[in-house]
Amino acid sequence: MRIPLFSKPPPIAIDPVCAMKVNMENPHGGIYTHDDVTYYFCGPGCNRAFQKEPEEYLSGRKKVDM
Ligand SMILES: [Zn+2]
Repeated sequence: MRIPLFSKPPPIAIDPVCAMKVNMENPHGGIYTHDDVTYYFCGPGCNRAFQKEPEEYLSGRKKVDM
């Protein structure tokens, strides 16, 4: 595998359920698109929870502490 000299660290997204950092190139919990925005998850459990009630997590009414 070639690594370009100008390579940047992997892009990081924040899991909207537990607020953990997720590597966008390899999200362990997969991704889910809601209202044309793609969210990244640390694990399948967070992904499932978000799909059930996305508005609750986006509004901050609900969150999970890891
Ligand atoms: Zn999570």
